[in-house]
Amino acid sequence: MAHLEERASAPEPGIADRTELDFPAIPGLAEGTPLTNPFEQVMAHLVSLMRSGVLPYGTRLPSERDLSEHFEVSRVTLRAVIRTLQQSGYLKTVRGRSGGSTVIWQADVDPAEVPAPRLSPAMKERLLDSLTFRSILEPGAAELAASRPLTESQCETLKQHLASVHAAGMNARIPDAELHGYIGELSGCRALAESIENMQLLLNEQLMKVLPEIGPAMDHSNEQHERVVAAILNGDPVTARQVMHDHVEATRELIVGFLQ
Ligand SMILES: [Zn+2]
Repeated sequence: MAHLEERASAPEPGIADRTELDFPAIPGLAEGTPLTNPFEQVMAHLVSLMRSGVLPYGTRLPSERDLSEHFEVSRVTLRAVIRTLQQSGYLKTVRGRSGGSTVIWQADVDPAEVPAPRLSPAMKERLLDSLTFRSILEPGAAELAASRPLTESQCETLKQHLASVHAAGMNARIPDAELHGYIGELSGCRALAESIENMQLLLNEQLMKVLPEIGPAMDHSNEQHERVVAAILNGDPVTARQVMHDHVEATRELIVGFLQ
């Protein structure tokens, strides 16, 4: 316990201050390639660096400005990532001139305090398999929904679901699942709608049970929600499919980052 307190009060000597410029880049990404899902990719990368011990407890991260330049993302995006990592117990941020973000996530503390996921390989595989299935189902559902004439009340309900996701802010997991489920319904294909509903249940219940800290990050994609709903309302199946594809892929990247 004395050991833990000591660790909690100050970074251990010898832990690198990662404020210099050797900060790891996102793997497999050629220099100058723009990120397709900046929020999710930077978030997943930082989480995997912390979980794999490259950025251990007590490490001080570079400034927001340096990180946003390093990853070539906007300050707004970078700040949203940092805020989400604070809320999920990975970082502690102190404002001011000598401030900055410090890693506070530890793999080996009391599991009751930090919800460190203990995922079996079989469960990991099942989750990844479900995400693959989702990436087949949901773009198709959005495309079909945009191809069909919708009644006025269906359009209204769709807009209401979108508004609920917005209104829920950082706790949009359930309204998000309902929006996705409703798009499944609008596809007009019952088997598709049922499969999407089951997929959303699995994501909500099982995934959130083992990876609760993912919640706030997964609800980030309001812009994609808006674009997919607009495409469905405008009867634009090509855009609806594309945007839903990007949205589902963004979520997958995020979850893969947490599973590492
Ligand atoms: Zn969504």
